[in-house]
Amino acid sequence: QATKSLNFIEALVEEDLREGKNDGRIQTRFPPEPNGYLHIGHAKAICMDFGIARKYNGICNLRFDDTNPVKEDVEYVDAIMEDIQWLGYQWKNVYYASDYFQQLWDFAVVLIKKGLAYVDEQSAEAIAKQKGSPTVPGTESPFRNRPVEESLALFEKMNRGEIPQGTMVLRAKIDMASSNMHFRDPIMYRIITDHPHHRTGYAWKVYPMYDFAHGQSDYFEGVTHSICTLEFEVHRPLYDWFIDQLKTSDYRPRQMEFNRLNITYTVMSKRKMLQLVQEGLVAGWDDPRMPTLCGLRRRGFSPEAIHNFIDKIGYTKYEGIIDVSLLEHAARETLNVSATRVSAVLDPVKLVITNYPDDQEEMMEMVNNPELELAGIHEAPFSKELWIERDDFMENAPKKYFRMTPGQEVRLKAAYIVMCTGCKKDETGKVTEVYATYDPETRSGLPGSERKVKGTIHWVSAKHSLSAEVRLYDRLFSVENPSEDKDKDFRELLNPDSLKVLQNCQVEPWLAMATPLDHFQFQRIGYFTVDPDSAPDKLIFNRTVSLKDSWTK
Ligand code: ATP
Ligand code: MG
Ligand code: MG
Repeated sequence: QATKSLNFIEALVEEDLREGKNDGRIQTRFPPEPNGYLHIGHAKAICMDFGIARKYNGICNLRFDDTNPVKEDVEYVDAIMEDIQWLGYQWKNVYYASDYFQQLWDFAVVLIKKGLAYVDEQSAEAIAKQKGSPTVPGTESPFRNRPVEESLALFEKMNRGEIPQGTMVLRAKIDMASSNMHFRDPIMYRIITDHPHHRTGYAWKVYPMYDFAHGQSDYFEGVTHSICTLEFEVHRPLYDWFIDQLKTSDYRPRQMEFNRLNITYTVMSKRKMLQLVQEGLVAGWDDPRMPTLCGLRRRGFSPEAIHNFIDKIGYTKYEGIIDVSLLEHAARETLNVSATRVSAVLDPVKLVITNYPDDQEEMMEMVNNPELELAGIHEAPFSKELWIERDDFMENAPKKYFRMTPGQEVRLKAAYIVMCTGCKKDETGKVTEVYATYDPETRSGLPGSERKVKGTIHWVSAKHSLSAEVRLYDRLFSVENPSEDKDKDFRELLNPDSLKVLQNCQVEPWLAMATPLDHFQFQRIGYFTVDPDSAPDKLIFNRTVSLKDSWTK
């Protein structure tokens, strides 16, 4: 078996191990903010964070980055845990950044006392104006050099709810002329009094900002490698600066960054996804068109398909956008070797085998998966009247049409070779029945079946088949990058044909046993999964992907 080459993060981790850093201890964390459901981009981070821990005998903790009470909710906490486990990972411990509110507060007080933080009473706009630009130094706040005691007293007042929201912040006192904008007295705390926190209620009136909370949380927990996405690369010096003020030994978590996943024809910002859900533009977070993990699951992506995709895209230092057809390609590749082949007719027209005995029935052997001998077979009933796809018959067919047309032979998959003899039409000219005769010598497995015919079509027995609803999903947006359009709101760019619902499809009776999220290949059509709302008397299938692959390297 070929060993996969290391990604650059693994290479850096191995370097740290060789140098004996942290006594060979490896500890990572996955730090979602519980303000939405996880999406395929998060899966990329999860595979990295948990993957590193697994590969190097370390541990990975789940830490909810719950420092903004305005947007967070326990609903999301539960869903996030479910999705991580679905991907096949288990955290060692569950932590919450809110567990560190006291420690963070104490550390902030230390920084104030050291003269490294101060309370600023300016408005957010005024502070923003003073920031300067990368080439122009910022302006110092008039509150920057206020006495330590004043800042301490005000910080206390802020947290007692005695200061109105939005009127004061605590800032680190670093360097308003730094070439790194994040060093220009970054905000450490803001006041939030009008929203209870989902875990601490109204106990706190000040909440730490990401930059202040994240690194310290890593430090408190003993994280060795804090892996995140590239946009945090410019935050890294600040991450290190805060920890340097706090650390009491050589130990310091190491932040490393990789490229964020972006995919064409979708949006992955939680704010935008929330809008789609709240405005009813999709059926929910788990709508099969959503890039969320619960949506992809409902769409029929298996965890293996997601892993296959993440392996294909890899980890780099370059931002880009991945073609969604690669995700679809990864699903096909995985489902090809795992999905059971079945027969389903989406647009049925009746085929009558005129020389087949009226009351006769026989069972045909269907190969479950030609890629997987162990998968075995199942049986499907055959009888005089079958359903076939409407477009598998043409009365006046062009030369290269190798399906049902009068005078031409075609093979009925896993059954007989039949000769088409004609059809019946209604007043509008619509075909209502197709006729054929069968050759008993050509039953699948008999020597007569060796005869060469150009086309093979699928079928189900009309007497035995089950009707089903089939939902054909397509891309949610009609443009490659819906977030890029400057003139149009992303909601105006939704694909109007992203869902087609077909009623009265006919599927083979064996599918009565299918349970939600089972994967199937509808032969000649595509990969489908059983929707969670499906019931034995009302089967519902979701199309994961069609068979046709548009991925080109
Ligand atoms: P949003 O900006 O939509 O709120 P986020 O990045 O703030 O998303 P978090 O819940 O904070 O979402 O993310 C948790 C972890 O997942 C972070 O380490 C983040 O870097 C990573 N992550 C989020 N989105 C992606 C993505 N598209 N590709 C790779 N990793 C991602
Ligand atoms: Mg966020
Ligand atoms: Mg975040």
